[in-house]
Amino acid sequence: MPGATRMTFDFYTPVETINQDLWMDSPARDRMLDKLIALKRVYRDFIVLPERASELMKPRNSRSVTDNCLFAKKSFAFGPQGELKQKCMTGRKADCDRCGCVVPFYMASLVDRKRIVEDSARSLAGWPVRGTRSRPGAADGARAHRGKSSCPAGRAYQ
Ligand code: SF4
Repeated sequence: MPGATRMTFDFYTPVETINQDLWMDSPARDRMLDKLIALKRVYRDFIVLPERASELMKPRNSRSVTDNCLFAKKSFAFGPQGELKQKCMTGRKADCDRCGCVVPFYMASLVDRKRIVEDSARSLAGWPVRGTRSRPGAADGARAHRGKSSCPAGRAYQ
């Protein structure tokens, strides 16, 4: 999108009363998050979500966040008539075990000290300086993910 300065993303969250086949299964979600992490290492702040939040969204980690959802505990959302929504912005029938909303994962990433230290160390050790994208080695991870495509995002949905 021309003029975009930042991007974030969500996955679909299944809701009990809505019959939609938009759920991305665990292997596909894993692959997608790996690609987003690789892109984050190249494009840095353009992708808003910190790497640790993407890691928390992976199926092997996600229940540690959703079983103790900080959004449900600490925040609130309103419906179109101004009524308070339970249990979150997705409504009371949202399937927490398959939550795709980035918010609880982002919130969890803000209080996960171990992952914050790891993210900071990784950033100091090898990421390119903001505004540059060509530092040798920094883009290798993304390159490996995108294979022969010249566009890092080009293979993201394959
Ligand atoms: S569906 Fe709502 S309450 Fe459940 S984990 Fe996701 S954000 Fe939290």
